[in-house]
Parts: sequence; structure tokens; C-alpha cells
Amino acid sequence: MGAVRNLFNKEEAQEFLTKYPSLSEALALRLYTSRLIGKDPSLVLHGGGNTSVKLKIKNILGEERDVLYVKGSGADLAALGPEGLVGLELQELQKLKSLEGLSDEEMENQLKIHKVHFRSPDPSVEALFHAFLPHRYVDHTHAQSILILTNQKHGKELVAEALGPGIGVLPYLRSGFPLAKAAIELYENNPQLEAIVLMNHGIFTFGDEARLSYENMIRFVQKAESYIEKRLQGKPLWHPRADLYPSLDIALSTARISSVIRGACAYQDPGGTLRRFYTEVRSTPEMVEASRSKEAPDLCRSGALTPDHIIWTKNRAVYIESVPGDDESLRSLVKQEVDSYIKDYDRYFETHSATRGTKPEKLDSYPRIFLVAGIGLVALGLTRRAARIAADIAERSFQAKPCAMAMGDYLPMDESHAFDMEYWGLQQKKLAKTAPLLQGQVAVVTGGGGAIGLGIADRLLAAGALVVICDIEKTRVEKVRSILTRKHDESLIEQMVFDVTDYPSVEKAFSEISGRVGGIDLLVPNAGIAHVAKIEDLDPIKFRQVIDVNLMGTFHMLKASVPIFKRQATGGNIVVVSSKNVFDPGAAFGAYSASKAGAHQIGKIAALELAEIGVRVNMVNPDAIFGDEEVSSKLWDLVGPDRMKARGLDAEGLKEYYRQRNLLKARVLAEHVGNVVVFFASNQTPTTGATFPVDGGIPAAFPR
Ligand code: ZN
Repeated sequence: MGAVRNLFNKEEAQEFLTKYPSLSEALALRLYTSRLIGKDPSLVLHGGGNTSVKLKIKNILGEERDVLYVKGSGADLAALGPEGLVGLELQELQKLKSLEGLSDEEMENQLKIHKVHFRSPDPSVEALFHAFLPHRYVDHTHAQSILILTNQKHGKELVAEALGPGIGVLPYLRSGFPLAKAAIELYENNPQLEAIVLMNHGIFTFGDEARLSYENMIRFVQKAESYIEKRLQGKPLWHPRADLYPSLDIALSTARISSVIRGACAYQDPGGTLRRFYTEVRSTPEMVEASRSKEAPDLCRSGALTPDHIIWTKNRAVYIESVPGDDESLRSLVKQEVDSYIKDYDRYFETHSATRGTKPEKLDSYPRIFLVAGIGLVALGLTRRAARIAADIAERSFQAKPCAMAMGDYLPMDESHAFDMEYWGLQQKKLAKTAPLLQGQVAVVTGGGGAIGLGIADRLLAAGALVVICDIEKTRVEKVRSILTRKHDESLIEQMVFDVTDYPSVEKAFSEISGRVGGIDLLVPNAGIAHVAKIEDLDPIKFRQVIDVNLMGTFHMLKASVPIFKRQATGGNIVVVSSKNVFDPGAAFGAYSASKAGAHQIGKIAALELAEIGVRVNMVNPDAIFGDEEVSSKLWDLVGPDRMKARGLDAEGLKEYYRQRNLLKARVLAEHVGNVVVFFASNQTPTTGATFPVDGGIPAAFPR
């Protein structure tokens, strides 16, 4: 368990005042202590927790108004800036205190209509709690130690014993009006309170100075920590199971289990789109130890530590007791566990939705967290960000729950509260609803350091896929990565350096990709080299080099991807970057044309063989794609100077020559190839074994 420290520092606080000269001192200090809280994961995780300050502000008429500045929903305390706070008309909100009840819809409406700036984000769902308390500063966290104490059968007594006088305890109540009302009643009856602890949820502290409210938080959390430490002294958290043996090859087992889990959890959404998850594995020694302990099944079966976690992790996790060495057994084992999870989830949904007034729209029934014996935890997310958040939360939970279990009886909030939280409209707004075309897909593009690779990666990222750019040259792949990060979400860009001519390196790279993100859905063999010489002068060694990269490289990629496609069992796409030369070859270009013709042909064979597992294989035939100043085309670096000399042209002249040569007089760009890859990857037509020319129209190269 992490130890919370008081990080308040006068000089740092002063820096915030200078950093935000346009803000009042009170607001700048609010930002400072919010960030102190946000950067400690034993207090809050990923957008969890919230803070506020009450100020007097002059409105446009010069009238002085009380304004509550509270964290916007979804904003992260660790990086809180003025834009992350919402100003609300305090007196209007405080009037709501007198109401007996307030529906969630009406609360949302009240919070929206009393914003000071109409453009500011929606406030935290705990805004009324902040509004009702009279203190200038209010801080709220889901501190791990508080969760350990409050998720206990005798939690209330433990909290009182651990934190001593000065605190009030509220039973579990859903955030919103009922919780805010209970809190203010508790406070008004006990105005000496310095903190309010919420069972199965977290803690609120308050004070008239930013520092006081923050230091109250640290003080009570530290008390909880030292109490737990004392209680746990000498007690082992884990009891290792002697009957579980470590896997021989951790990297390979991680790759295999990730792809199998990912495949088993992919599902068709109501619109008919296949939704795939990204995986995030945590194999720290602690997580491996947890996964091999006698407590592991209980860790998975028991409910979440705090309601805030549920939208990312769901309430329960799946335990996988072993990773069998053959893929068939592994798949059937995981499927059995996932099926049983789905059955439980559906029962949970039916039971709790039946008792609610209006039945909510059902979310998917799939788990988000797996604990796998010998491997650690595997988290799932429909976006990479969601997978990482789920992993962080689960890792912390798997550290806290055993402490709670060793201390006494772990008792999380009951299932009906978990249900309310999972299906609460305000909570669900934190999850994006509409998905980009290729969201959830993992694309592997070789030759990723060149112009065509860049064009393909760019279009795939724009369509929402995660792209692994691969190249043999590290500097080239890093260059492309840096260009792509200017335009796209960095979390969706991965890079790999390996040699496609070496089969074991290809297998190893694919295994690493599966371990990192879960598998592969789209493979784009694009790495290629060329050599210009007439057969008479063609050095057999050079010929073989070209064959090695262009043909053998493609073959290696196809072969290494098959086991991954089979483990996932969700189909996929392969788009072989072939060439206009396959149909319309040129003299002195034998090595290139023959190798590309071979790659094209092996692609067609793959189309025949892989259709039965739902993998489509298509070819794209580009012509005359030049790079730019930033990223050149390796092919044109090689053949360009020769062509320019033969035709007496400069670089621009050569590009123009190729433009004039095609029917549409079009300059063919790398992104055009990327568009074709996106089209194939989106499965909009039932097509496999096809060739798609991207050449502006060259009659001699029409596919036949
Ligand atoms: Zn909370």
C-alpha cells in the first residue's frame, strides 16, 4: 500500500500565484492543492475525486455573487487548470437543500442552468455536496486506505477507531442529491466535523484555507494507513498455491492469453459492427504473486472498491487458473469462463433492471479484467485509454483488496448499488458512445519508415485503428512516428524494429505486439526494396536480397499471423502492398517485378487458405509514389537517380512524367494507398483475393 505524504510547499504554492496572475489567489491555490491530490495514486486514480472553492465574483452588472468553482466531470485533478473548473451560482444551488428529493435528471438540469459560463464543462456529479457544505474549500478522494477500512463488515467501527474524533461517517449512498443532503444534515448536527467518510466510497475534507482542507485529507488518510499497517503486522497478504507451476515462456504465454481473451470478448454491437478490445497486461511481481495465490478467485469474485471504478472495470473480474500449452485447450478454457461471466452479468442486469422504473439500455456483458495465473492481470478497453485506466484501477484494487481481506471481512457495496452506478446516465456520459470506423483494430504495417508506410499509417490512424509501424531502420521508424504524433492520438501509435527476412524475428515481433495490445487484425506487408539491372548484369546475390525482402518477407508475415488470427477467431484482413509492375513489368526491373509477382501470388494463396477463418487477403497495386522532403520512398531513393538520368529529367520533372503517363493524369500519393487499406479493413464488401490498382489508370496494368 502506498504511503501518502503531505506535499504542500510554500514556494510551490507561490509559483502557482505567479503562474496564474489573472486568477485570484484563492483559485490559484485551489489548482495547486488539487494537483497535489491528483498526482498521488493512493488518493485518486484517473479523473477520480473532486475539489472545489467558493468565491465572490462580480457579474457583468457589477453585482457581487457567490460562485462555486468545482471540478468538471471527467477532468483530471493531476493536471487541473482553470478550464477544468466549472463556475456555478452558489446561492441558487444552496436553495436546493430545502427540497425533500431531487431526481438525477432535475439535478443535472439545475447544475446546467446555474453555470456562470455556458461553455464550461458539466460539473462533477458530487457538485451539490460541495455546494451545501459552508467551507470555502472542499476536497474529495477515493483514498485506498479509506476504501480498505470502509469495505469491511464492521467498517463503521474501524473508521471511528482508526481516524478518531472529528469525523462523521455516512452509509453508502449514490452520489447526487441524497448523498449531498445526508452530508449537510450530518454536518449541521456536528459542526465540529473536519471530515466525512462515505462507506464503500471515499472521504471528504474541508476548511476555509486550501492548505487546511488538503492537510486534513492527508492527516486522516495517514491515520487510516498507519492503523491498517498496525493491524496487518505479520499477516501475510497472499498464500501461494503450490499446485500452480510457472509457465515456461512468459512472453509467449502472455501473447497467447491476450489474443485468446481479446477474441473471446469481441462482440457484435446492435448496429452489427464487430467491437474489439485492446488489452493491457500488468505482470509486476506483485500481480504475478496475486495471480498464483489462494486468494485469487476471491479477488476476482468480490465487488469493486468504490463505485467510480465500475464504468471502467465492471464490478467483477475473471480468474483464469492456468494457461494450457495448446491453443485449442486455452481457447475452450477462456471461452468457458467468459460464458459463465456473461451468464452472471445477464442475470445481474435482469434482476436489477426489473426493479427500476424504466429499463436502461443494456451495456455489453463482457468482462474488463482478468487475473491469469502466472501472468498477472489482463485489462480490456474499447479504446487504448480505457484499457490502461482499467489496468491501473485493477492493479490498485488487487493491492487493496487483500489488505482488506487480511484485516477482516471484505464487504463491498451490494450489487444493486453497483448496478445503479453502472447504469447511471451521468456516469455513462464519461464513456464515448460513437466509435470511429476502425476503433479496436490493431494494424501492423511493415516498411513503416518509408513514404507509403507513412501514408498507410496516417489513414489508418485517422480511421481510429491502433497502428504498429515496423521497419528495419530505427531512425526511419522514429521519424515517421514523430510525424504521426503531430496529427494523431499518441496512444494509438506503436513502433517495432525487426527484419522481415528473418522468420524468428517476425514471430517474436508479432508475439510482442500481441502481449502489448492483444493481437493483430490487419496486416499490411509493405516492406520492399528494389534493384535496377538487366538480367545479363543482374548479380544473383542482389536478386536474392530483393526476393528475400519482397517475397520471403511477405511470406513470413503471412505465416506468422495465422496462429494469432486463429487464437482471436474474429477474422481479419491482410492487404499485400504489391505493385503495378506485377501486370506491367519493365525492363531492367526483373528482381523487383519477379519478387512482387511472387508476393502477389502468395497473397492469393493466402486468400484461398484463410477464408475459412474469416481472414480476407487483398492486394493493392500502386505506381510511382514518391516521398517528400521529410520521408522519402526507399524505392525511389534507389531507382530515381537512374530514371532521371535515362530520361534527362530532374526530380520534379520525373514526378510530372509519371503523372502524364496515366489515364487520369493524377499524381499518385501514399495516402491513396492508405485509403484502399482502410476500405479493405472496414469489410464493407465481401471481397478477398482481389487486386486494387492505385496508379491513375495504366491500361497495361489493368488486373486480369
Ligand atoms: Zn467520489
